Amino acid sequence: MSQPAANKPRIGPNGRPVRYFEMPDTFTGKLRVWRYIIYRRIVQITILVLFFGTFHWGWTLLGAPLLSGNLSASEVAGLVPLADPFAVLQILLTEHWLNTRVLLGAIIVLGFYTLVGGRTWCAWACPVNMVTDLANWLRVKLGITNQINVKRNVRYAVLGLALLLSALTGVAAFEWVSPISILHRGLIFGMGMGWTAIVGIFLLDLLVLKHGWCGHFCPLGAFYAIPGRVAQVRISYDTPTCTHCGECVRVCPEPQVLNFKKAAQNGMVASGECTNCGRCITVCPEDTLKFDLRARIRSLPRHSTPSAIQSTEENVS
Ligand code: SF4
Ligand code: SF4
Repeated sequence: MSQPAANKPRIGPNGRPVRYFEMPDTFTGKLRVWRYIIYRRIVQITILVLFFGTFHWGWTLLGAPLLSGNLSASEVAGLVPLADPFAVLQILLTEHWLNTRVLLGAIIVLGFYTLVGGRTWCAWACPVNMVTDLANWLRVKLGITNQINVKRNVRYAVLGLALLLSALTGVAAFEWVSPISILHRGLIFGMGMGWTAIVGIFLLDLLVLKHGWCGHFCPLGAFYAIPGRVAQVRISYDTPTCTHCGECVRVCPEPQVLNFKKAAQNGMVASGECTNCGRCITVCPEDTLKFDLRARIRSLPRHSTPSAIQSTEENVS
């Protein structure tokens, strides 16, 4: 965001002059700005490599396959079961019973994401995130604008529909068409025609709707937003330092979560729709935002909310 042309510097609701994000000149400075993107890619690619190495090269740990299975149900070293709780919920609605290890795997995964932030899955583990981040980076470079407007709540309707169809048809509805499973299976076991679904999502996000898939339609993101409401790892918000420059909102893939009024009241970005991607932290010129624990933030004294602080809801799609 560039400095407004007016000679007089803009003053924030905290009485301080508004400053804007500037990309550092040095390589180490740039690395600092990109650090969460780098960390996220390392985590996403490591998960894929562990599945790939186990399947193709027979990697083992303690004499058992290191990470076998797929994103719906897997096992670490033959000891720790992991399962996608949304997939498990759909299968339970089809009235097929699952073995205890799969149920335990779903509980472990749900417990983990309830701790670290439900939609942390979206930004840190989901392979589709790499496709949609690329599309968003390209659409910013090319200056492409939205062709349609869609309410972000549509994803909750897709979530409800997936559960309803699972119950009515006896088939785990989203698992049949999930681009997440298609991309993961494709990368580990071979792509087939699955690439068409991934290209479709890429083109949707690039040409039609900003953050189209993850931000508007994906039912798994909607599902993980629910435990995200009580998640422990949150973005804390230091009210007195915020000038409302808007840089965080500009880079946030879920800008509706950066509601300054609510953030000031809660001392954090409390919404379950926050993906904990960390983008906002690195562009904030005032170091207002950082990762912290909900319980610790709650224990801190609240700062009074400046009367000039308004919701950003009306400014975001
Ligand atoms: S929290 Fe957002 S609006 Fe406030 S100073 Fe930081 S980047 Fe600007
Ligand atoms: S508030 Fe920050 S961490 Fe949460 S989704 Fe937006 S940019 Fe990412």
